[in-house]
Amino acid sequence: MEYLYETHLHTNKASLCGRSDGVEHVRYYHSLGFTGIFISDHFFGGNCSVPRNLPWQERIRLYCRGFEEAREEGAKCGLDVFFAWEETFKGDDYLIYGLSPEWLCAHPEMEHWSYREQFEAVHAAGGCVVQAHPFRCRDYIRMITLTKDFVDAVEVANAGNRAIEDAAALRYADEFGLYKTCGSDNHLSYPGKYEEGLIYGMALPRRVSSAGDFARLILNREPVRLCVPEERFSLTGDASEIPLVSYWTDGGNGRIPTGRSWTE
Ligand SMILES: [Zn+2]
Ligand SMILES: [Zn+2]
Repeated sequence: MEYLYETHLHTNKASLCGRSDGVEHVRYYHSLGFTGIFISDHFFGGNCSVPRNLPWQERIRLYCRGFEEAREEGAKCGLDVFFAWEETFKGDDYLIYGLSPEWLCAHPEMEHWSYREQFEAVHAAGGCVVQAHPFRCRDYIRMITLTKDFVDAVEVANAGNRAIEDAAALRYADEFGLYKTCGSDNHLSYPGKYEEGLIYGMALPRRVSSAGDFARLILNREPVRLCVPEERFSLTGDASEIPLVSYWTDGGNGRIPTGRSWTE
């Protein structure tokens, strides 16, 4: 028996680019037979709708609205709804699993974390850090930052990516032995989206009891199945399809070019 989870999902409450609310997402994933979803709205470093000039607790309260409405609806229909967040550094994004809104309330210093500080603080609290779509190329992204020493896993398939970007991520994860996740990065749930191949799920061997339990599954590197279209990982096209230079981070502001292609 497998249990299907969505790990990357945005609502229109905290994410400026989000279009569905939590209720709409919950009803849709429930109709698809998922066991659970993680609401991972854009946090304060990213495309977040929460005003910056409010007190920290109030910002967190507003940030959690999409999650709260999803959780309420999930309780009604029987879909497990878990909290997560997606923080943005310099165009590179990190999904954090396993920690709670209350934990966020107690850590206003997180807004200024380096990669290393984020990794250490999240770990100390029992959570985990996953780099989202590491090879994504967009107008607003100037470079690819690879943070293998400061993450627990890499999202190797993201339905918002081009296939070549996922193929590069898979190669990176395999080469360095990084645990692999996938997610839809879904901003809008509508009937037929699954049939269009735009919903990616993680099939887990057991039903997770909490966000912390999911983090443990990743930290323990439990085997999972990534439910993504097969063609996601074909290295079609040439290296020019990843036009950005990639860098290793030292955990702070220092970076060194990797000096290599990830698609050849
Ligand atoms: Zn977004
Ligand atoms: Zn996202």
